[in-house]
Amino acid sequence: MDLTIIEKIADKYHCEILYDEPMCNYNTMKVGGNAEALIKPCSIECLSEVIAQCNEQGIRYHVIGKGSNIIVSDEGISALIIVISDDLSRIELVDENTIECEAGASLSKVCSFAHKHSLTGLEFAWGIPGSVGGAVYMNAGAYDGEMSEVVLSCDQIDINGNISTIENEDMDFSYRHSCFFDTKAVVAVVRIKLKKGDKAAIKARMDDLLIRRKTRQPLEYPSSGSTFKRPKGSYASLLIEQCGLKGTSVGGAQVSEKHSGFIINKDGASCEDIKKLVDVVKERVNSRTGYILDCEMQILED
Ligand SMILES: Cc1cc2nc3c(=O)[nH]c(=O)nc-3n(C[C@H](O)[C@H](O)[C@H](O)COP(=O)(O)OP(=O)(O)OC[C@H]3O[C@@H](n4cnc5c(N)ncnc54)[C@H](O)[C@@H]3O)c2cc1C
Repeated sequence: MDLTIIEKIADKYHCEILYDEPMCNYNTMKVGGNAEALIKPCSIECLSEVIAQCNEQGIRYHVIGKGSNIIVSDEGISALIIVISDDLSRIELVDENTIECEAGASLSKVCSFAHKHSLTGLEFAWGIPGSVGGAVYMNAGAYDGEMSEVVLSCDQIDINGNISTIENEDMDFSYRHSCFFDTKAVVAVVRIKLKKGDKAAIKARMDDLLIRRKTRQPLEYPSSGSTFKRPKGSYASLLIEQCGLKGTSVGGAQVSEKHSGFIINKDGASCEDIKKLVDVVKERVNSRTGYILDCEMQILED
């Protein structure tokens, strides 16, 4: 992979390119081999130039945020990984009720910011460990809330590096889906519209939801959160439990004993262990219940 042009962009904007970078440090499941190269763009302009040049020069790339919904192949990946990181994480209030943040801001920091300004509506996202860009891409949600209900608009970067604004109604949001799956545009800036609320009530709701997460989810182990999407008419965790799969292991990967919707990296799991366990779960659930489970987490591989 010839990265001369990307190196020039990195030089121009003073950001680093890392070679042969261990991807286990960039996903919350903590698996995967090395990426051929990795860049953390430090401005929206830098990000748009990198995207444009990758497409123009035919350089394979993957955009990631905080890696809380991806796993990476053990063989690594021969592509440029573009990490939308803390270097792109400005958060500010642009009017009374609207927060504007760069895509690399952590969702939890945006929730804290909303609380600080007595803004209500984003409490559901407290504890979801991703970036705000990843949350929009995935239409992340929990406890009867999802990003589609609070996002006003985004600035997106298309594959040619052009920056434009897209409004909520054009984002084609549905359960764990947004238009960005299809358009391949990158979310650069997110505007979130909330309502004025009672600061203490916001905090109480956030505390309550975090306690629920800590009580029910195996947060003591690396994972990607819920491994499977909720199938229509049931719950993945319920089906998995009904099929006697709780605690089932392949290598170091295990269907969590605490929450059967989570596959965890119990003990030095490889990506292959996780993929095999996913197949075991899907096969058993399908043969016993007829339901087809779809993975929510994504696998980066060549
Ligand atoms: C313990 C735990 C609990 C979780 N709980 C929840 C939950 O309650 N609800 C929920 O919905 N999810 C949950 N998740 C999953 C995950 O946190 C969310 O999907 C999160 O929104 C992913 O954000 P990320 O920055 O980590 O994205 P990544 O994992 O880095 O990427 C996920 C996808 O988004 C794309 N992407 C990332 N950033 C951008 C961008 N700026 N522009 C375009 N595409 C982008 C990537 O290409 C990739 O396809 C949980 C995960 C963990 C580990």
